[in-house]
Amino acid sequence: MGLIPAAVERLAAEFGRLPGIGPKTAQRLTFHCMRATPESTAGLAAALADLRRRVRPCSRCYFIAEGDLCAVCSNPSRDQTVMCVVEEPLDVLAVERSGEFGGLYHVLGGALSPIDGVGPDQLTIDALERRLDGGEVREVVIATDPDVEGEATAHYLGDRLASRGISVSRLAHGLPAG
Ligand code: ZN
Repeated sequence: MGLIPAAVERLAAEFGRLPGIGPKTAQRLTFHCMRATPESTAGLAAALADLRRRVRPCSRCYFIAEGDLCAVCSNPSRDQTVMCVVEEPLDVLAVERSGEFGGLYHVLGGALSPIDGVGPDQLTIDALERRLDGGEVREVVIATDPDVEGEATAHYLGDRLASRGISVSRLAHGLPAG
């Protein structure tokens, strides 16, 4: 038998799989859970289960939603004529924090990366074009990351949307940090 009980090893391994969590932090979180009240660990477990059961991608923009549509898509006071295209749902939160955008979003689900096998079909670009087919959007702001993949994706989208007669611009310096 090892020094550490299997159940402890297991939880530490799960924490260790989370982004930004190294082995030491994983162990600290695990020991914290052992000291915590049964109510708080039950709350954590329930919150995790609830997350996967209730939250899914918005059927229109692929941001996170608790029903069919996310809070942005179901808000009629958002500017329906301008759309910000981002890579991931977290990017929507970053743009919202800036407080300078009142339009709609479209979450691509990543960026073009041939080396990782991510082509246009792996992103939600077809769905984006179907939304633009609706004709209400007059302006698209591409806010993909300022890295190689993000720039390639922005160029690809710029070319693909060029014939639509709508304004397509690139958010020059990527997303506001933090
Ligand atoms: Zn939405």
